[in-house]
Amino acid sequence: MNIKAVLSDNIIDFDTKPRDACGVFGIVAPGEDVSRVTFFGLYALQHRGQESCGIATFKDKTVSLHKDIGLVSQVFDEKVLSKLKGDIAVGHTRYSTTGATNIQNAQPILVQFEDQKLVIAHNGNLVNATELRNFLIEKGYKFESATDTEVMAKLVAFELSCSKELKIAVEDAFKRCKGAFSVVIATSDYLIAVRDPGGVRPLCLGTTSRGQYVVASESCALDIIGADYVREIAPGEVLLINKEQKLVSNLSSLSFAPHHCIFELIYFSRPDSTFRGLSIYHYRKELGRQLAIESPALADYVITVPDSGTPAAIGYAEELKLPYTEALIKNRYVGRTFIQPSEMLRELGIRLKLNPLKDIIAGKKIVVVDDSIVRGHTSRKIVKLLKDSGAKEVHMRLSSPPIKWPCFYGIDIDSRDQLIAAKKDSVKEITKFIGADTLEYLSHDGMIKATGLSRNFFCTACFSGEYPIKIPKELEGAKFRYEKYAKVVSR
Ligand code: AMP
Repeated sequence: MNIKAVLSDNIIDFDTKPRDACGVFGIVAPGEDVSRVTFFGLYALQHRGQESCGIATFKDKTVSLHKDIGLVSQVFDEKVLSKLKGDIAVGHTRYSTTGATNIQNAQPILVQFEDQKLVIAHNGNLVNATELRNFLIEKGYKFESATDTEVMAKLVAFELSCSKELKIAVEDAFKRCKGAFSVVIATSDYLIAVRDPGGVRPLCLGTTSRGQYVVASESCALDIIGADYVREIAPGEVLLINKEQKLVSNLSSLSFAPHHCIFELIYFSRPDSTFRGLSIYHYRKELGRQLAIESPALADYVITVPDSGTPAAIGYAEELKLPYTEALIKNRYVGRTFIQPSEMLRELGIRLKLNPLKDIIAGKKIVVVDDSIVRGHTSRKIVKLLKDSGAKEVHMRLSSPPIKWPCFYGIDIDSRDQLIAAKKDSVKEITKFIGADTLEYLSHDGMIKATGLSRNFFCTACFSGEYPIKIPKELEGAKFRYEKYAKVVSR
């Protein structure tokens, strides 16, 4: 898991960090223990959201739903899972990108209309949710949560109420949606997967050893249940799967214009998940190699900020033929549910999470490779930790360019005033802030080159300010609220 909760000066910084995207999972498998399979799928997707989680099952027309605040291992136990019976299941791990942390906003969301029910789980963020919500309120729909996911669910209900068949209703509902959406929906008879035309967030299709279909945010969730990867859900695809495992798909129901989030490759996705046939680990290592070509450093050791910086650090070290070593040992059990430390423990700062190997660090020139700097708080503490452990020099290297722009497609970075690279005028100033001897970022061109794919294939908005899906003015206002930092956005 990539829980990046760290200590700020006074409090645990769990809630001020930018938030990760969510994880979704769905299975249609009559006769199988679908809730248990979903439980394991969610376990593999825990890194995509640690705030709340839930599973809903359909047995004929009866829905069982259990969701709560907490990690998958805290929310579900034998007793709960045994009550979630059905042929189709949908699950979700959530990190809030829209709406506050409360149980109403946990997913999956259940919507009932006339004699029908559906459950929906979503990863991403709609940019026109307010407009759609107002449209539905005018039509008489009431809302129980603050999420764009409920908007999507009620849009489907609305289209169905216009006497459309399910597939058409789902297509028409999602044609109205703008933004990032990787969605799984269950009805009494179908598992449905929908992905926005940009394919911003990941979504893939797999089959179990018994030939039953599974849909998941990342391929690591297929591996954990022994399912085979079949293919990506295509950008713009609406896919319906019935209980006889028959697929009904129109690959371009919603049009097709891929803009995959490049930050999934850099940080979000698990290294053992795949993207276009290669592991995320592979891409991260290539990013590290490219970084080494662009910004070599003379050092005794290359070290990583575990775990997300590790493949890039290994790639960096291999490229420069420098020794790679671990020097910061991570306590894997520090997470969101961590108990607030006392005043005395607070002073220990980041050491609650990372403990340095002083005998390796002392007197040495160290290159520390991390995947990204967002606000600079963690990086600053890491540099201090290394210096306090006796490092002679600390050279920070980042396997991504400076993050200067907020994300409107599924990551909660509130406004530009939180991003150190937007606040400071130069890399020199950031270097000073984090206290490193040198600091270098990967170039934008180098990042694209390392993927081996074309620039047009990705959304790089957090680095470039070029937003492939138009952002409505009112949303821009909220996130660019500190005009001081706002620069012209080229589209
Ligand atoms: P900071 O120095 O405070 O900006 O933190 C940098 C660390 O945050 C790096 O180790 C990144 O792996 C990590 N990071 C990057 N993006 C995110 C995110 N969306 N949520 C949490 N941590 C992140």
